[in-house]
Amino acid sequence: MAQAHLACAPDSLADSLKEAETLCSQRGGKLTPLRRKVLTLLLESEGPAKAYDLLEHLGDDGAAKPPSVYRSLDFLLEMGLAHKIESLNAYVACGHWKHGHAAVFLICDKCGMAGELHAHDSVKKLTQEVESVNFQMRSAVIEIRGLCEACAG
Ligand SMILES: [Zn+2]
Ligand SMILES: [Zn+2]
Ligand SMILES: [Zn+2]
Repeated sequence: MAQAHLACAPDSLADSLKEAETLCSQRGGKLTPLRRKVLTLLLESEGPAKAYDLLEHLGDDGAAKPPSVYRSLDFLLEMGLAHKIESLNAYVACGHWKHGHAAVFLICDKCGMAGELHAHDSVKKLTQEVESVNFQMRSAVIEIRGLCEACAG
């Protein structure tokens, strides 16, 4: 799991789901069985997952029609439990969902790893610059493409 060392998330899946459930209720949402399943798939995924990859794994579930999977993903984005990486058109479980943050992703072009950085200082500066032009930021996902340590070596 290349992305684990960059994240603040719990190590075990059970702990992650428990934490997600608590955060959802704090943020006014409910982690329904399908949303929970989609989040589980994202947490278990080795790298960013596309919606149709998720659908494939949800095959037997009658509720797993494309629109409901997209709605589940939107819910997870809204709750701050996942991010969408636009350049890959793929989704990842957030590694820092307990604290507010803009997502800064390092994406390896070779192996597809996507690690989420804290980048507190740069994000703070960026937020200040955005606010200085009176733009109200709702979300930010910064995508940095290149080679991970393993692939560059
Ligand atoms: Zn995040
Ligand atoms: Zn963190
Ligand atoms: Zn790599």
